[in-house]
Amino acid sequence: MSETSSPSTSDDASSEPVNVIIIGAGIAGLAAAQRLLGAENKAEKINVTILEASSRAGGRIHSVPFGNGISEQGATWIHGIEGNPVYEFMQEKNIEKPTLTKSTHLSTKRHYCYTDGQTLPRNLVKKVGGLYYDALRQSGQFNQSEEEVDCSKSIGEYLEEKFDRFAEEDVLADILRYFVNVGCNYNACDTLHDLMLRDEGEYIELEGYHPIFPQGYSQVIDTFLEKLPTDCVVYNSPVKCIHWNRDDGQENTGINGPLATGAVKVECTDGRTFPSDYIIVTVSLGVLKENQRTMFNPQLPKEKQRAIERMGFGTVATISLEYETQFWTTYSKNCINLVWRDKMEYAVKKNPSQEWFRKLNTFYQSQHSPNVLVAWLSGNEARQMETLPEEEIIQKCTDILQNIFSDCSIPKPKSMLRTQWYTNPHFRGSYSYMSVGSEGADIDILAEPITANGRPVILFAGEATHRYFYSTTHGAMLSGQREADSILKNLGSQ
Ligand SMILES: Cc1cc2nc3c(=O)[nH]c(=O)nc-3n(C[C@H](O)[C@H](O)[C@H](O)COP(=O)(O)OP(=O)(O)OC[C@H]3O[C@@H](n4cnc5c(N)ncnc54)[C@H](O)[C@@H]3O)c2cc1C
Repeated sequence: MSETSSPSTSDDASSEPVNVIIIGAGIAGLAAAQRLLGAENKAEKINVTILEASSRAGGRIHSVPFGNGISEQGATWIHGIEGNPVYEFMQEKNIEKPTLTKSTHLSTKRHYCYTDGQTLPRNLVKKVGGLYYDALRQSGQFNQSEEEVDCSKSIGEYLEEKFDRFAEEDVLADILRYFVNVGCNYNACDTLHDLMLRDEGEYIELEGYHPIFPQGYSQVIDTFLEKLPTDCVVYNSPVKCIHWNRDDGQENTGINGPLATGAVKVECTDGRTFPSDYIIVTVSLGVLKENQRTMFNPQLPKEKQRAIERMGFGTVATISLEYETQFWTTYSKNCINLVWRDKMEYAVKKNPSQEWFRKLNTFYQSQHSPNVLVAWLSGNEARQMETLPEEEIIQKCTDILQNIFSDCSIPKPKSMLRTQWYTNPHFRGSYSYMSVGSEGADIDILAEPITANGRPVILFAGEATHRYFYSTTHGAMLSGQREADSILKNLGSQ
């Protein structure tokens, strides 16, 4: 649809197509478009335009050529195949089946060691890991239990109390810190003090394997694009403002004067405008946090603004290192789990380290490219890493690997690729989490559409709007379908 096309506001509405603008061509936006265009028995013709800020589709699903294969810059695993719509969608399409691996951490040859190479006894790691995961499981049940627990606490505080005896023994505290670091990765948070204890049980983990896509997660995006008209996605079209109006006294100045009640119009940064009947916003919570005051005219209802502020959105990062040879197999290790020496305070400490590399917790051999090691880190340290010169990151990773293997002949990598989700203004981070001060209901408030004249006009999708599967590709996909269904229902097509 172009600037000249108009929404179906004429008297003869049945002859006018309904125009839907979707903001963002990530999996939520593409799934919404496919649902709208693929719906059978539609009461009206629906035009769908996806305005995408960047020059590619996929958003936080982004597989790029690297090494002898690809590197996943964003989503890597299907988190549980049972009842997973992403998995089912790809099964239907009969593409190369994802490789089934039981865990997300890939390797049977795990090696837990200090950064000076000293191996940690497996039984000790198992014991601390067992206690840590038991404590987390227990915390996940607090919101349904009768037990008297102060649930306004953070998970960090809860773990600190639970494991205060570890302060006596450095090695236990060090191992605990490893698990805490991994926990920060899973949740994309700075520290576990950011995570709300009460709502730990909100997220639902799907059962089954956690496979990867051997040819890259972007296969899912390509499959969606094949199903959509070629001109459906309009690239390089960052949306600056969504103009809307409703009869609740909020003033709308419009771009060229006030809008009629129920009318909505999208304005891009280059001045193009797109009038529409419905708008589905799928931009990340990070983008909403940064831009919500300027991105909506008038501003969003206060309740929604506050939910956006309260909810958590953090950063996880990977560093992919390509080598000529798999030097690590000489030591028969393909997953190195890094334990840093420190005091208990750091284990679940509130203020993250100033040293970015101390959050590195795992180097593992990529399943997509055998000569590549992938390192993970999260939070403040990940954001710090994103800003550093490449050479500094390469040097630090090389120092660490040389120390672990006590071998200063370990070379620098041939090439390096690091993620920069926080630095990128179209994301401002990786995915959402349940933060202290927030609650599950905030997700529903964010997902609530803005209505005018009794119909939804601005709808919200994206991973952060799924109450139980937030942070995942399947949560994002379902949220896009949910909002498309809501439009179809409003049109009387369902
Ligand atoms: C490092 C990392 C690892 C991950 N690992 C996994 C995993 O293993 N498994 C899993 O299930 N999930 C994982 N995720 C999460 C998963 O990738 C996301 O939840 C999901 O892809 C989000 O999809 P979305 O459509 O909601 O948002 P996005 O993919 O962010 O799509 C939103 C789109 O909006 C565009 N946009 C932003 N601003 C504007 C604007 N102003 N105008 C127009 N367009 C705009 C963006 O460019 C983007 O394309 C990971 C994410 C990251 C970053």
